[in-house]
Formats: sequence, structure tokens, C-alpha cells
Amino acid sequence: MPQVIFPLDSTKSFTDQKYVGHNRWHPEIPANVTVKPGDSFRVDCREWFDGAIHNDDSADDVRDAPLKGVHVLSGPIAVEGAEPGDLLIVDILDVGPIPQEDSGPLAGQGWGYTGIFPTQNGGGFLTEQFPDAYKCIWDFRGGVATSRHVPGVSYVGIVHPGLMGTAPSKELLAKWNTREAALIATDPDRVPPLALPPEPQDAILGQLTGADFERVRMEAARTAPPRENGGNQDIKNFTKGTRVFYPVFVKGANLSMGDLHFSQGDGEITFCGAIEMGGFIDLHVDVIKGGMQTYGVSENAIFMPGTTDPQFSQWLAFSGTSVTLDGEQRYLDSHLSYQRACLHAIDYLTNFGYSPEQAYMILGAAPIEGRLSGVVDIPNSCSTVYIPTAIFDFDIRPGKSGPHKIDPGMGVPKSTF
Ligand code: ZN
Repeated sequence: MPQVIFPLDSTKSFTDQKYVGHNRWHPEIPANVTVKPGDSFRVDCREWFDGAIHNDDSADDVRDAPLKGVHVLSGPIAVEGAEPGDLLIVDILDVGPIPQEDSGPLAGQGWGYTGIFPTQNGGGFLTEQFPDAYKCIWDFRGGVATSRHVPGVSYVGIVHPGLMGTAPSKELLAKWNTREAALIATDPDRVPPLALPPEPQDAILGQLTGADFERVRMEAARTAPPRENGGNQDIKNFTKGTRVFYPVFVKGANLSMGDLHFSQGDGEITFCGAIEMGGFIDLHVDVIKGGMQTYGVSENAIFMPGTTDPQFSQWLAFSGTSVTLDGEQRYLDSHLSYQRACLHAIDYLTNFGYSPEQAYMILGAAPIEGRLSGVVDIPNSCSTVYIPTAIFDFDIRPGKSGPHKIDPGMGVPKSTF
């Protein structure tokens, strides 16, 4: 096991640790630790809400989830010699849940959760159809996820970090804040919001204190979106064996990561659609001097996905086009066509006895594939969602004898109001 350079004690909150991480992006958040090119090391990661979500049968904690406090990230980790213009090579050597012998009740210790977020608290991809809060607990055993809230389904975890990235430069941060503020200004009262401006409340900024803390928390960027530095990309194929090339914008690169997922479907559609957990990630870093210019990587990381995903030989796929549920034709709107594909899949799964919320949870958390199948055939974009048939312990294919009916059990718990 590589040396743990960023340890987290499962019995303590994120701000009471040996090193305090951060939940905003800003170039002035100082590095907590420094490594050298060629080093391998382990980083502990807390689940994105720092323990606010519990292993029980109530969704009130998802309804009340403290969104201003996310994502709690481990880092920043400085890489000696890395300078703006370089590419940082990050290899994911291993990634997994918190060892179960660690005391404490945190997500990652044999279990994780998926949430449907209410429209009033973040919403989700299908928030018009699913405006309320729901929660689903998944148990991990032998690398496989099952749930008391969603019977009849099990799958191997494709464990990955939802969020990893380098610190922005001062100029890049200003660019983010300007363009996101301009978008928000087009409809400032929208629920859920169009974007999240800097939020001083609940900001955690590592070692920063005093006047620096007060200034930086007013301008630091939220961690929700993916941006040029990587960030919250939620790419389910960032499994072990992945190599990522991140642009470097500040001296030392200042790499941070968190939001570990035991599994996720493409799109992470319920918003907290992955199986969220705390855990560890083992990394190896190196630097390509001047790599941003050499390879033309001026914005957004490039990567080579891991090769340890489960292999499925059979899929049941659902398609959608860019026509609204009310029948309005839209022009090549792939967001809409993916929504329609997902709604189609959810409707289909209810034939077997699942509630729409159970089906939505399956699409968010299981290793489903989402594809932009056609983007040029005016006026309809065609998106597809592929479900591996093997994750169900019954036959979900259409057949002459009709759908097998499952006992949906208690279902996924809903919040009390
Ligand atoms: Zn996540």
C-alpha cells in the first residue's frame, strides 16, 4: 500500500482532520502536502456531504442535504516542479471504499447511497417528472452492489472518483465567474438555478485564515460543474487503470479530488445519481513539461479510461428524440433526446413492478451506457440509453409471455414532505 499522504479519520468531521481540505476552487488555497513527479501515494476521501446522509429508510436527509458545503475535496496536493503550461499525468492505481474495520457509520463502510434531489434543492435531470426527495441505500459485498430499496438488481461496482482536478489560475477563475454570472443573469430566479455563483457560506478553504479567508470565500468557484481544470466530470470510466492528463494552471498544479462513486450510470441522472461513498484513491503522478502547448491541450483534461469495467454481452436499449412530452419539435436538442430515452426506459421498467423512482435510481447508479447516437439528422437528435440485461435477476426482455412481475418491496424511501 502506498504511503497515505492525506489521511482522514472516519470518526471526525472534515474540518477536524490533520489536514483540512477544501470545497471551493481558488488559486490561493495553499497546498496541504507536496509530492514529487514519479511518486505513488494514497489519499483518503470523504463522501461529498461529509457524513450528512445516513444508512436508514428516510429521505429527509436528502431533502435537507447541505448543498452549500459540497464537495468536500482532499488536497490540494502540490507536485514539485509542475508549472503553468505543463500537463500533469495522473494514474489511478487503485480506488475503493473505506475499509470496513474503520470505526464510524460513514457511507463507504460497506454501503453507499443514491439520492433523487428535490427541485427545491438542486433538482436532477428529470426534475419535472421527479420533483421530490428520495433515497436509496446500496450494500457492497464482494465488489457487488445490491439494495433493500430496489429488489431484483445487482451489479459489479465500477469504482471511480466523480471529481478530480487542478487549481485554476487567477485569470481562469475570473473567466469562470464572469461567464457563469452572465448565464445566471438571464434568469436569476430560476429553480433549480442555471448555475451556482461563489457562495461564502459553508466555504472550507484548507489552511486559509483571517483576511485571506474572508476575501477568497467571496470569489472562489463552486465545485459542482466540470470545467477546464477537470473538476466534477462524473465520468464513470475513471476506474483504476485510468491515466488522466490535466492542464496545469498554477505552480505545483495543486491537484484535488473527491466525490468517490461505487458505481454510476452515464449522466449521473438523478443529480446524486451515482452510489456515493467515502474511500481511498491511490495515485501516481508525473509531469510533461510544456505539454499543454505540445499537445494542444489548452482546456479540458484528456484521459485514457481504465480497463477494469465489467463486460456485458447483451443490452436492452431505449431511444429518444428531440420532441418534448407535449409534442413540440425541437432542433437537434440532445439533452432533450437523452431525457426522452431515459423516460422511455423508466416507463418500460415499471412494467415489471418497479416504481418510477426505483427505475430512475437504477438508471442513475447501475453501469448503464448513454450515447449520442445521431446529432445531424434534422430536426431530431437521437440519444440512446443501454441497460445491461445481466444486472437483473429476471428476464427484462420483451417476450410473448409478458413481463415477469417482481415484488417491489418497501420501495425507495420518500422524504416526509
Ligand atoms: Zn457524486
